[in-house]
Amino acid sequence: MFQQLMDDKDFLAFTLTNINNKVPEQRFELSNKTTVTILDNGIICFNPAQGSTKDIVLSCAIHGNETAPIEICNELINNLLKETIVTKQRVLFIIGNPDSILSQTRFVEENMNRLFSGAHSSGLGLSNKERVRAKKLEEYVANFYLQNNSSQRIHYDLHTAIKPSKHEKFAIYPYRPGRSFSADQIMFLAGCDVDTILFHHEPTTTFSYYSSVQFKADAFTVELGKVMPFGENDMLKFANTKKMLLQLITQQQVELAPFDKDKLHLYKVSRSINKQFDDFKFTFDKTTVNFSGFKQNHVLATEGDTEIKVIYPYEAIVFPNENVPVGQRTVLCLVPAPNEDIQ
Ligand SMILES: [Zn+2]
Repeated sequence: MFQQLMDDKDFLAFTLTNINNKVPEQRFELSNKTTVTILDNGIICFNPAQGSTKDIVLSCAIHGNETAPIEICNELINNLLKETIVTKQRVLFIIGNPDSILSQTRFVEENMNRLFSGAHSSGLGLSNKERVRAKKLEEYVANFYLQNNSSQRIHYDLHTAIKPSKHEKFAIYPYRPGRSFSADQIMFLAGCDVDTILFHHEPTTTFSYYSSVQFKADAFTVELGKVMPFGENDMLKFANTKKMLLQLITQQQVELAPFDKDKLHLYKVSRSINKQFDDFKFTFDKTTVNFSGFKQNHVLATEGDTEIKVIYPYEAIVFPNENVPVGQRTVLCLVPAPNEDIQ
């Protein structure tokens, strides 16, 4: 089974070939003394012989049709396997949902990024592949972080968004009560051209929140642009993201620009609007881009006899999707956040 990977050094191809196979744990050493462990299909860990100060999780394909992050991770993995680059940090790469890569869809049965922090086992229980996989991904991340207590824990869960956006690249900073936000992390993301940060306001069942709350990782959901099929991504748009991730894993320290609020767009989530009834409908049309703003009292959506209005002087919207099951989020509303605790 592993001969294909040894010959081709293409981890994505190996992962897609083995979708229906049980991939047993496999460990080997590169000539540069990096230990490589394949933990499961789509899960690979690199451990340098010494000197690591960061434990880094890079995940992609939690939504299978979001191809740019998959290409970025696969390139890093393959260059590590080919030894054209050498990691200085422990890195766990996760290709989240290989089945949905193959079907070229966001998910097969259920949105995996609503299944973390135990949500996989509540309600319907472990009733589909995505729930089973989410539970396993939690275990791999837990084992990875808990093997080591002395390093900085980082998790970038890489995505692309369904809709075009006023701010092309943005990141969601999970809710972290009692912990200030990290200026270094925000400037690392800015170096990746991710110049817009959303501070989340409550616990969620996303992958990044899981790593943040369970392991105190600096964890983010990072949106790198718009969804495109394989081969149609303009990789030049990701040059700075790739450069920074490469530096992150191959250097002890990454050079960061000084924190400068004026170069960033900072928002906090004012509220999440959940669908109550089947007839939920937005008033804005489908071409409305992420981060479009509306003034107070503007009607954002209707359901039944109710009008859902803008309640603050100004709210911007992100991730609108009216085609979700009743009870789930249709949109996040945002307000400017100039005074968050960033240190
Ligand atoms: Zn996504």
